[in-house]
Amino acid sequence: MIRAEELKKVPIFACLTDGQRERIAQNAADLRVQKGEWLIREGEVPSFFVLLEGVLEVEKEYGGTSQVRGRYQPGDFYGETPILLDSPTIASLRAHAPSRVLRMDRMQFKELLDSSAECASTIVHTMTQRITAIREYTQDNNPFRVLIVGSQYDGECRNIRTFLSLNRIPYEWVDNERDPDRVPLCVISDPSGPFVLVDDSAIVSRPLTTRKVAEALGLHTNPRKKSYDVVVIGGGPAGLAAAVYGASEGLSVLLVEKTAAGGQACTSSRIENYLGFPNGISGEELGARAVKQAARFGAEMVVTRKVVTIEPTSDGYCVELDGGSRLQTKTVILATGVDWRKLNIEGIDRLQGKGVVYGASRMDAPSVVGKDIFIVGGGNSAGQAAVYFSSYAASVTVLVRGEGLAQTMSHYLIAQLDQRHNITVEAYTEVVSVDGENSLQSIHTSISGAPPLERSADALFVMI
Ligand SMILES: Cc1cc2nc3c(=O)[nH]c(=O)nc-3n(C[C@H](O)[C@H](O)[C@H](O)COP(=O)(O)OP(=O)(O)OC[C@H]3O[C@@H](n4cnc5c(N)ncnc54)[C@H](O)[C@@H]3O)c2cc1C
Repeated sequence: MIRAEELKKVPIFACLTDGQRERIAQNAADLRVQKGEWLIREGEVPSFFVLLEGVLEVEKEYGGTSQVRGRYQPGDFYGETPILLDSPTIASLRAHAPSRVLRMDRMQFKELLDSSAECASTIVHTMTQRITAIREYTQDNNPFRVLIVGSQYDGECRNIRTFLSLNRIPYEWVDNERDPDRVPLCVISDPSGPFVLVDDSAIVSRPLTTRKVAEALGLHTNPRKKSYDVVVIGGGPAGLAAAVYGASEGLSVLLVEKTAAGGQACTSSRIENYLGFPNGISGEELGARAVKQAARFGAEMVVTRKVVTIEPTSDGYCVELDGGSRLQTKTVILATGVDWRKLNIEGIDRLQGKGVVYGASRMDAPSVVGKDIFIVGGGNSAGQAAVYFSSYAASVTVLVRGEGLAQTMSHYLIAQLDQRHNITVEAYTEVVSVDGENSLQSIHTSISGAPPLERSADALFVMI
């Protein structure tokens, strides 16, 4: 338990009266953390911490990896900024040595501010210095870890952009066909691209694979061990949930994901029907939270790795990843989700990635600004994409084979579609062919089998 006399030596409490220190000693928590233990993680509800003994490290997530941004010594405090800004915790705190920390909740902290003008002034002064440091840091550091140079119709570049978006890694993209002047000449002898530049130093060139980019970024692509209790295949919501529950029960869990953790849900602009999020949550945010939760319980995750074979052995299974790693496990959980069904029509394969896209993600928004786009499909994912793109595109036409959306789309989404003036739903309509030289220019649609009608189209998102 904290004693009032020991608080006298802590600078932030030195100006208080004995009575005020006594009250803090009686009400604040006395936390002991071992080396390596987390005190608070980025994104959590903040508390006010004062370090009494030991050393704490500040870690901040940046572009998909975690970086140590400083150390706190006894007497330092933390947590005032997010509490006063009413935001989640801005960075994580981890013990660098066995440490003892005083913790106040929000109400106790506000009481402290009200109790002493001197104390409040020290706290506000520190907060101002920290906000200035954050501003200087963001000015000095390029927020984009990755620069992609390549055409919007280049399939490899598109895969990399999707991969980075799904992994929530900020990137800058220069379309070398539309904006050749913006290609940085200094970085590569053949500036025509496509190429990827990571952290201003590593250049990834053709073939542009997500594995190469992931490795340049320092993401985890190789399992650390040869044997696990559980291997979960697929990092969508189901696989991540399995990883959280398995790891929280103390099992050694490896999650293998062929692209980026989060699965299909990560491409959703706003999931409104998930329990616990009354105002909805973007798929990216849901995925990021689940990844953090699984990692926090100790689950290991590798991305850009695909499970290619599973063979039974005498005490479980041998799982082989593409690229050759073989792992032993007692249990395999298959959480591989679904893939989009392909449209089997004339011209579609040639134009895939060149205006014809399977699925849709927020990353696609800049490429539809002011354009006339079509979405094939009547499910919730198609509805979400229509609502999202309607803020960017000139027109969004949703094509469905059936009589309408009522059988396949949630009521709340149909209502949202109705409210957007630039969304049209065409029933009993099929796409029968797509056309264009270098990229999609038109589609042919047929209503109830009638002769096809040619329509100019800038993009076709297939979500079936
Ligand atoms: C645009 C969109 C919007 C949506 N909106 C909503 C919504 O608002 N509300 C809602 O409830 N649902 C929504 N959904 C549906 C929801 O996202 C899915 O139901 C959910 O993601 C299914 O989770 P899952 O883990 O089973 O599979 P998935 O999310 O499909 O994840 C499977 C994962 O397995 C990986 N994988 C596959 N094979 C292998 C392999 N061999 N090796 C390694 N990894 C592999 C895949 O890459 C993928 O990441 C939406 C879906 C989309 C696409």
